[in-house]
Amino acid sequence: MENIKRLVRVDQKPIGRTPRSNMATYTGLFDHVRKLFAATKMAKARRYDAGRFSFNVAKGRCENCQGEGFVMVELLFLPSVYAPCPVCHGARYNAKTLEVTYQEKNIAEVLGMTVDVAWKFFAAEPTVQRALTVLREVGLGYLRLGQPATELSGGEAQRIKLATELQRTQRGTSVYVLDEPTTGLHPSDVEKLMAQLDGLVEAGNTVIVVEHDMRVVAGSDWVIDMGPGAGDEGGQVVAADAPAKVARSKASRTAPYLARFLGNDSK
Ligand SMILES: [Zn+2]
Repeated sequence: MENIKRLVRVDQKPIGRTPRSNMATYTGLFDHVRKLFAATKMAKARRYDAGRFSFNVAKGRCENCQGEGFVMVELLFLPSVYAPCPVCHGARYNAKTLEVTYQEKNIAEVLGMTVDVAWKFFAAEPTVQRALTVLREVGLGYLRLGQPATELSGGEAQRIKLATELQRTQRGTSVYVLDEPTTGLHPSDVEKLMAQLDGLVEAGNTVIVVEHDMRVVAGSDWVIDMGPGAGDEGGQVVAADAPAKVARSKASRTAPYLARFLGNDSK
């Protein structure tokens, strides 16, 4: 225990409960982007600081929707509905703020970019690009930077948390606990995720994963097989050993499935 300084739970709980938080704000990426906008000629001439480019601060946001991009419309005999804000048309910022551009894009257009598009756009900005690279490596290249937390799946929220952790300097003294991180991932992205987890282990950290995906199980150093069945029929440790040994365990129902993956992987 004396070698462990931090416990990090990378779970599937939302990264925020309101549309005010999104991937860009959660990962800290947006802080850097806002500084880039504040450093432009026009922003300096107008004395706009980085706070001006936050949709959570009164200065730069659209006041009609208070930076939410949409407004609630109350209907007489029906439940209220959300409609795009008639003033900013969903941009979340006021017109003055949107006049400022960085590389010919305003702040709302940057929030509308996917991670993949932004990765090319910020090619000259190593700090921003590094954060985007990690997001791509956990299979989130298709997400928009400003995609509200409320629109993200549990699996996406979890991978954003993982990406945020991967950006930190690794000291090799953390234990990471992940609950089914492959949920919703394309098979090719599972490989990418595995490479990231391997990187954490190589840096001296410990990674504990609850997982049904046999590729992940086969790639582990140690397996604890719980069972024998599901629900009330489970709860016992059936086998605890290196993957190759668990795959030969007679008591384990997982063994034949695991053996198949180890067979394919034997080099
Ligand atoms: Zn508005």
